[in-house]
Amino acid sequence: MNNDIIKMTATELAAKIKSKELSSVEVTKAFLGRIKEVDPKIKAYVSVCEDYALKQAQQSDDKIAKGENVGVLEGVPIAIKDNILIKDIRMTASSKILENYIAPYDATVITKLKDAGAVFVGKANLDEFAMGSSTENSAFFTTRNPWNTEHIPGGSSGGSASAVGAMTAPLALGTDTGGSIRQPASCCGIVGVKPTYGRVSRFGAVAFASSLDQIGPMSKTVEDSALLLNVIAGHDTKDSTSINIGVPNYLSTIKDGVKGLKIGLPKEYFIDGLDADVKASLDKAIEVYKNLGAEFVEISLPHTDYAVAVYYIICCSEASANLARYDGVRYGFRAECNNLLDEYQKSRGQGFGAEVKRRIMLGTYALSAGYYDALYGKSQKVRTLIKQDFEKAFEKVDIILTPSAPTPAFKIGEKSSDPLQMYLSDIFTISCNLAAIPGMSLPCGFSQKGIPIGMQLLAKPFDEQTMFKTAYAYEQATAWHKEFPKI
Ligand code: GLN
Repeated sequence: MNNDIIKMTATELAAKIKSKELSSVEVTKAFLGRIKEVDPKIKAYVSVCEDYALKQAQQSDDKIAKGENVGVLEGVPIAIKDNILIKDIRMTASSKILENYIAPYDATVITKLKDAGAVFVGKANLDEFAMGSSTENSAFFTTRNPWNTEHIPGGSSGGSASAVGAMTAPLALGTDTGGSIRQPASCCGIVGVKPTYGRVSRFGAVAFASSLDQIGPMSKTVEDSALLLNVIAGHDTKDSTSINIGVPNYLSTIKDGVKGLKIGLPKEYFIDGLDADVKASLDKAIEVYKNLGAEFVEISLPHTDYAVAVYYIICCSEASANLARYDGVRYGFRAECNNLLDEYQKSRGQGFGAEVKRRIMLGTYALSAGYYDALYGKSQKVRTLIKQDFEKAFEKVDIILTPSAPTPAFKIGEKSSDPLQMYLSDIFTISCNLAAIPGMSLPCGFSQKGIPIGMQLLAKPFDEQTMFKTAYAYEQATAWHKEFPKI
């Protein structure tokens, strides 16, 4: 029975809990049991919230027993990336500097999930402050890919992706600044969605690069991600960048199909050096879409080449400002010193890891007098050109299809000593954040070594509906979502 439960989708679990076929306590225990069994090998969780989850599960069961109104995720477990605050639970951002920090309030997405009845089973590992593509930058440990534990799960939401991939949670929340939901989803064979910038409140998520950060759903199926986005999307007065336009029901149009849909293939993304397994999977996916009645159009996004450079200048600049608050006084770790300046320097010096320090230094440099115009100012201008590339492309097409990552998940240690190689693994995901449009990754095959491959769909701002229906049509025509790792 437990084996069946952990393979069920969130949609199925919610229905069975609501109809009392399963209790939430039973479901939650099945996932907690699975965590005990496989997480020592995967290491997806920084904290497992066993008591908290069982208490929430009991409350859901009580509500259902009394016939009270229940939420759409009533009693359904979810893993939360450990850079999102749940009141009274430790939140580390996988950094030593926040190692013992207890969240004093709930993030808006957490309030919404509580209202919907979700059960928090644990806090998922990430690259420190969400800076990275492999979880190797976590201050605590590296998470492993459930399909092959010698490989990375992607990052920075590698814990969330691995948790869902390894069936220790049916759903997870991640954050995506330059690909941190989509790239790990692709690595772990699951679905990951970065909503339009402003679609989901960032209140209570640890700020990395505020003009790019966005919280989003991760799940085994497209339908589950649409369900989760229904819960977390919407305007929030506590986040001045959240946008006040209505939230459609993402499930209502998901089955509309792709007949006549125009899908753009950007020539800059299908380059010669693309990994052969990735290319083969994408080619097959294109055939599937053609058979479903979609039309393909070659498009150009001419400023793609600048995206990685522009992203790293902007994200490091914003990070250097955002991370100034960790001074040893207001939050977390404090080095013992006799004077204030020493205390700032030592707390930050000992509390931050190497990648975080590298980015604070790069960002401080890019923002400093004399370099500001040439680096930060110029990057903002090129960012506008990248955004305009998409606006022009979307005059011709409804959706853009690309690989999610240039290669399947690489081996742990393969790129950790070369930051530039690591930065290049985000080459296909970064432009979406710069342009503030929605994007998602969904499984589209396996490499010859059995590592999952993902494809990325990009849509117009606030057109997640078209993105979901495009993804759903492909998923239903294929069987990748029915594959499970043998861990
Ligand atoms: N891998 C990218 C980086 O290191 C993206 C991170 C993210 O989206 N949080 O910045």
